[in-house]
Amino acid sequence: MRDLLPGEIELWQHVEGLARELFGRYGYGELRTPMVEDTALFVRSVGEETDIVGKEMYTFDDKAGRSLSMRPEGTAPAARAYIEHSVATQEPLTRWFYMGPMFRYERMQTGRYRQFSQIGAEAYGSKDAAQDVEVMDMVARFLQALGLQDITLNLNSLGDEVCRPQYHAKLVEYLQAHKPELCEDCHRRLETNPLRVLDCKNPKCQAVAAQGPSVLDFLCEPCKAHFDDVQRKLTALEIRFVVNPRMVRGLDYYTRTVFEFVASHPALSTASTVSAGGRYDKLVKSLGGPDTPAVGFACGLDRLVLLLKESGKSFAQVPDLFIAAADPGSHDAAFALAGRLRHQGLRVDFDTRGGSLKSQMKRADKSGAHFTLVLGELERTSGQAKLKQMSNGQQWETSLEPAALIATVRTRKAESASGASSQG
Ligand code: ATP
Ligand code: MG
Repeated sequence: MRDLLPGEIELWQHVEGLARELFGRYGYGELRTPMVEDTALFVRSVGEETDIVGKEMYTFDDKAGRSLSMRPEGTAPAARAYIEHSVATQEPLTRWFYMGPMFRYERMQTGRYRQFSQIGAEAYGSKDAAQDVEVMDMVARFLQALGLQDITLNLNSLGDEVCRPQYHAKLVEYLQAHKPELCEDCHRRLETNPLRVLDCKNPKCQAVAAQGPSVLDFLCEPCKAHFDDVQRKLTALEIRFVVNPRMVRGLDYYTRTVFEFVASHPALSTASTVSAGGRYDKLVKSLGGPDTPAVGFACGLDRLVLLLKESGKSFAQVPDLFIAAADPGSHDAAFALAGRLRHQGLRVDFDTRGGSLKSQMKRADKSGAHFTLVLGELERTSGQAKLKQMSNGQQWETSLEPAALIATVRTRKAESASGASSQG
């Protein structure tokens, strides 16, 4: 679990802001659920045999002896809220997004943390392939808006309750024959939840899985038609994808479509999936709600921020103006001026400790402020001062009257920005 300090946090805010704007454009409203839920919710939805529920949850008893868990993911809480508020009857097609911290007791490595942040979305009520593709399109546009490249969309279908049993049987038969090559965990998975073997991170198990039967050879007609439709609609929106018949997901509730957006950047190594999701038509009903098809995804924000950092992007905010007092007698007037300018919307830095002009100017340099203004006795009596542009030392005479001063700062800032861009 990490602290995020100013300097880095601006990247997070940028990513979150983009998501809010973009998901809103697709008609998704924000959902906020509590950080803790009944443990049973995750056991029943994510699945007992998954890594998440099996070994990664922060579970504790509260003072009333109830077993609670810090939420490890957002889909089950969203489904719980969907049922609890009878949303289905009010809004048959519901689109939600959420963002916030999730908790999993994992082995720490780059891109893998115990408190991490997800942005996700869930669409309830439509079983059409258009809904699957809408959420994938949203992720694709989101990654594009962030300027992230070299990310591949992997697509698969896990079938449904009609066709998956046949595949399941075939897979078990195959895995039994290769049991000696599988890790200890997979020996257990083979008994309890064989599909999970395909999701094992152990290279030996992955090698076995790669040669195993393909789920796509077992899809029933309706599942196959749905999968074809998804691919047609992705193509129509010019979203590139690769079909990966060995991809399952780390949670048990998926039916039909599953997908992952995988980055190839070496910084992420084994934590390369930046977004993952799929369809879960049985989840709402299995949690006691109405029979409701649904599809959704979650993006790992930590990994997106890591990639943005690697690309050298910075969104750090610097002050428009630094106000310095030329002498101790001007400290109060400088402070009051800084306040008035801040009240009117300017981003202003001022050294409340006072100190020598030299030390104040050192801070001004370090702050990255666009302009500085030194207030002394002369300026106080004349009501005029010099505004100095830090990047090139240019100076302008300006009135100290806040509205006029702000106008000068804004004009000069815009001019130097357009000058900088026209110089390339
Ligand atoms: P992985 O296979 O990488 O462990 P997962 O299947 O456990 O991922 P999901 O539960 O599908 O992941 O979560 C969706 C996304 O959330 C992941 O693709 C990833 O970007 C992010 N994520 C999951 N676990 C972590 C973590 N411990 N730290 C940071 N990000 C995470
Ligand atoms: Mg995981």
